[in-house]
Order: sequence, then structure tokens, then C-alpha cells
Amino acid sequence: MLEAQTKSIFINGQWKELEPGKTTPIYNPATLEKLTEVAFGAEQEALEAIMAADQAFPMWSEMTGRKRSRILYKAAQLMLQDADRLGEILTAEQGKPLKEAIGEVKGAASFLLWYAEEASRSYGEWIPSSIPTKRMLVIPKPIGVVAAITPWNFPSSMITRKLAPALAAGCTVVLKPSPETPLSAIEIIKIFEEAGMPPGVVNMVTGDADAIGKAMLTNKAVKLITFTGSTKVGKYLMRESATQLKKVSLELGGHAPLIVFEDADLDKAANLALASKFRNSGQTCICANRLYVHEAVATEFLDKLQEKVEGLKVGSGMEEDTDLGPLISEQACAKVQAHLNDALKKGAKIIAGGNDWTGDLKGYFCSPTVIADVSDDMLVMHEETFGPLFPVQTFQAETEVIQKANNTDYGLAAYIFTENTSRTLRVAEKLDYGIVGVNDVFPATAEAPFGGIKQSGNGKEGGHHGMDEFLEKKFVSIGVER
Ligand code: NAP
Repeated sequence: MLEAQTKSIFINGQWKELEPGKTTPIYNPATLEKLTEVAFGAEQEALEAIMAADQAFPMWSEMTGRKRSRILYKAAQLMLQDADRLGEILTAEQGKPLKEAIGEVKGAASFLLWYAEEASRSYGEWIPSSIPTKRMLVIPKPIGVVAAITPWNFPSSMITRKLAPALAAGCTVVLKPSPETPLSAIEIIKIFEEAGMPPGVVNMVTGDADAIGKAMLTNKAVKLITFTGSTKVGKYLMRESATQLKKVSLELGGHAPLIVFEDADLDKAANLALASKFRNSGQTCICANRLYVHEAVATEFLDKLQEKVEGLKVGSGMEEDTDLGPLISEQACAKVQAHLNDALKKGAKIIAGGNDWTGDLKGYFCSPTVIADVSDDMLVMHEETFGPLFPVQTFQAETEVIQKANNTDYGLAAYIFTENTSRTLRVAEKLDYGIVGVNDVFPATAEAPFGGIKQSGNGKEGGHHGMDEFLEKKFVSIGVER
């Protein structure tokens, strides 16, 4: 068991402990062992945190971007120096293989670093006036207090991808991390503390989602809710935010198609399809959920994929040769099983893996599985599975596969494999997705905009676009005597 973390609520620069009984246990999904307990805060703690953020806002927003930058830069350095230990904590609470966890921590630090650089580049505009006696300026202003709600699948990078641009822009923040993975969040807050973040600028409340969410939605000091999680909760937050017309920025679920054309480099495509689907055991919002292969290359491609999938090792993330750790919960395993059962009942056949629930392992493990003879009426072809199950369909024509790929309410990421430049541009333009990867399945990076369209969300994170979410544009019109 880790050291008790009952002081997991951070308000106005102070760690707060709740009275006995107001804690919740945290488990290791690979072993089902209890790791520790964290505080279970509610509306009162959320309101205190919002008040602290509101009081700190004038000081933080008026500080120069250069000064804010130094704190973010220091936080990035501290995170990188401690990446191995932070990775171990992340693996313990979330389950992903340690090498992936350390990679995520480094990715989380890259957002701090990128926005440390952006903090001093919040440019406005000078608009040439059509009236000789007027001058026109557009000034970017931080929007105010930001409420950030994050999921468990990337417990570290989903936090810095929101907090770094918000803080760089001059906003103050109240964070509600996922109840499954609060330990990485606690470490990030400690890093901000050590980096010299003034009290009240970053606050965190762990605990009751409904109660904390209610405080965030109803308190007028909160000007923006930035959320990463399921489409269902995203819709709720958007609906409730309408009462005060709060701005919402939503990074929601996906259902990514991965298309292998007949002119693709099949070895590259098989390696990257494997990485896209099975990284983080398939619990990635942008992971491929459906595979479409041109029928001319289907046999060759699927032979390659089958061999690779059968070589994957499922186990504890702490073991060096593990490729897939556990899923996050029993319900997550049950959803994968339900998608598989539904597909098998409707005529699919297993071509690799099969959910034999991997021997002696105690945790929430699930075998990586590929299924063929898949039809569009199967659950796996229209819902986000969020687990290591890969359905495959073949296709004949480019127009046909584009239509199939777009036939979903989701619009987060899509992938194509082709060596043809005209096809690359033609298909990338026609896919209704916020992100298109071409011979690339790792499009998430600090310097580029990440985000979905349709029911996958409405904001951008990453790049200068990510900082724009936290800035309002104030127009100043000045009459000038001549
Ligand atoms: P979730 O159930 O929607 O939860 C996300 C967060 O919202 C958690 O912290 C959760 O806390 C909180 N929450 C739930 N109800 C709330 C309420 N009424 N008020 C305030 N907060 C509330 O999603 P998840 O299962 O953790 O994450 C998986 C989903 O996230 C997948 O759909 C995935 O595709 C999506 N995702 C999207 C992106 C992207 O960038 N587009 C990235 C990563 C993940 P509780 O757990 O306590 O309810």
C-alpha cells in the first residue's frame, strides 16, 4: 500500500484533510490490491476551491506572460526529472505498461513546456480602420476561472493538456480528476507547488462527481468548463452550462476507422494498426475501433496482423515485457465481452486472440482479439468499445469505405494507410473527423490542435489553438482627433 493520500484536496495553496470516513479507496487494476485512500470531497470543497481561484485570478491574470512562463517551465523540468517515479505511480493506479506510463508523463511535461513558451506570445490584433478618425484593437483576455474535469485513461497528460494552456493564458483553475486515478493528479499539483505556483491559482478537489460538477456548473465565478470524458457526460455538462451560458470545451468519445488501401505499405500498416488498437489496452479515445482493409490485400495484411496480435503479452504493467496491462474496471471488461458476444452471435469469427481472460491473472485482464466477417449491425461497429477488440471488414472502392467510415455520430480521429499522394489528400479532405492520421497513428502532440467534431466534442487542445480556448477577444474602438 502507498502512503495514505487522504490530503488530496488542494485549495488556496493548502492540502486539506476531511473528517474521518470521507475517503475513498484506490485500487491497482492489475492486482486488485488497495493502493491507498483519497479524500472524497463534495460541493462545499468545490465551492471553496472556486472561491480561491476567483480571488487569485486578478493577480495571476495581471502577471506578465514571461513570469507565468517561468513557473510552467520549472514544472515541466520537475516532471521530466521525476518521470520514472511518476510513471510507476501511473501504472499502479491505471494499469498501462510502465514504458507507456513514463512516455505519458514525458508527454504531459511537453504540454507544460510548450505552453511555457506560448505564455509570452498571446498576441492581439491591430485592425486597419476604414474610418480615418478611428483606431481598432483586439486584446486577448483570459476568460476567468476554469473548471477542468479529466478521465482515467491518460491520468497525467489529460490534466496538463488542459491546465498548461489555461495557466499560460492567465486563467486560474479548479481540477476534478478521475476517481480511479487521483494519485497522478496529486503528484502534478505537488509539482506546481514546488515550481512556485502562487496560492489559489491551481486548486483540486477529488470526490463526488455530481456534487463537484454541480458547484462548477452553478457558481457564476466559473467561466469555462473544460471536460475530457464520455459523450454522455459531455452532453450533460453542455446542457447544464447553458443556464449561465458558460463556455464549454469538450473532448469526448471516438469510434475511429482505420483504412488500409491496396497501395499501402502493409508492414507499416500492420505495425501501426497494432499500436493504435492495443496501446493502453484499447482504452484510448483516438484508438482505431474499426479496421477496413481493401480486399486485394486483405489476406496478406490480416496474416501479418494475426501473427503480431498473437505475439502480444498481457500482464502487469510493471513487468518489462508486458504489451497490454489490465483494463480499468470490471465494467470495462464486461463491455468488451458484450461487444464480442454480440458480434459472434451475429456471425463474426475470431481470427486472433479470443477472450480467454488470461490464466492466473487476478486483475481486469482481457486478451487482444481480432474478429472478421463483421457486419454493420454489430455493436462493435457503431459504439466505442474502449478495449482490445478489433473488428475487420473488407472493402472494394474508395467511395464505399469513406461512406462507411463517416457513418457514425462520432468524429474524433480517423486513419488511412496509402502511399498515394492524391489519395491522401482526397480521402483526408472527405473524412468527417477532427484529426486524420496518414500512415501515422500518434497524432496527439503539444504543438498541434487535437479535438473532435460531431458528437466527439467542440474544442481544441494543443498548439496555439489550445490556448485560444481560454482567451476572450476584447475589441477596443478608439476615436482619434486629427
Ligand atoms: P466519464 O465517465 O465521462 O468521466 C470523465 C470524468 O467526468 C470523470 O472525472 C468523472 O468522474 C467526471 N464526471 C462524471 N459525471 C460528472 C458530473 N455529473 N459532473 C462532473 N463530472 C462528472 O469518462 P471516463 O470513462 O472517465 O473516460 C473515458 C471516456 O473519455 C471515453 O469515452 C473516451 O473516448 C473519452 N476520452 C476522450 C478524449 C479526447 O481527447 N477526446 C481523451 C481521453 C478520453 P466520476 O468517474 O467520478 O463520475
